[in-house]
Amino acid sequence: MAESVKERLRAVEARIAAAADRTGRNPGEILLVAVTKTISPARINEAIEAGVTAIGENRVQEARDKFDEVREGPVRHLIGHLQRNKAGRAVELFDRIDSIDSVRLAGAVSRRAEALGRTIPVLVEVNVSGEASKSGLAPDVLRAVLEEIAPLEGIKVEGLMTIGPLTDDREEIRSAFRRLREGAEEINARPITGIEIKHLSMGMSGDFEIGIEEGATIVRVGSAIFGQRA
Ligand SMILES: *Cc1c(COP(=O)(O)O)cnc(C)c1O
Repeated sequence: MAESVKERLRAVEARIAAAADRTGRNPGEILLVAVTKTISPARINEAIEAGVTAIGENRVQEARDKFDEVREGPVRHLIGHLQRNKAGRAVELFDRIDSIDSVRLAGAVSRRAEALGRTIPVLVEVNVSGEASKSGLAPDVLRAVLEEIAPLEGIKVEGLMTIGPLTDDREEIRSAFRRLREGAEEINARPITGIEIKHLSMGMSGDFEIGIEEGATIVRVGSAIFGQRA
């Protein structure tokens, strides 16, 4: 018989705890974002009942179609590429945006948040591995972009996010995550007013343990909880 969402969730939590232990970290400092793209509200609600405290969707339209039927409680993260013309919708639907990848998008999100009287916590996405198919800032412009968006009143930059390289080479994945962490350390060592990098979102079903070993405070896990997406 297939495992339930709850059983898979418990298994993922155990793997998070084990990876944290291996590196002398406190598992309590690692947030699991259950990635619910393509998953029905009923299955998402199963995960929420089983204890999920944060969910991640990667498309505004899909979230809009589903969120009415998704139980309140978990923090809602937007984790996918956001088009500027959807910034307003995104701010209405989500608590956090983990995929800011340009100054102009940051500006649009900030304006929409301010109009609603909010300050929305965000992560800035970095394309560490340089794969052309990926969104995210090139590492060499990260500091300049952070300096430019730091004064925006409607957003609060709390960290960085990356998607590991699409490869089976564990060392290549590790090296990408390590470079994100080093980039964060470099920024915190020479701080930008208004920005403290507190969060590193790195690691998905196939590589979240490497992410944790390299300092992730947030992992984004979909298929290991809900099964392979159709
Ligand atoms: C789909 C997705 C994930 C989760 O992927 P899994 O391999 O199913 O765990 C994580 N992050 C982003 C940005 C995604 O789009």
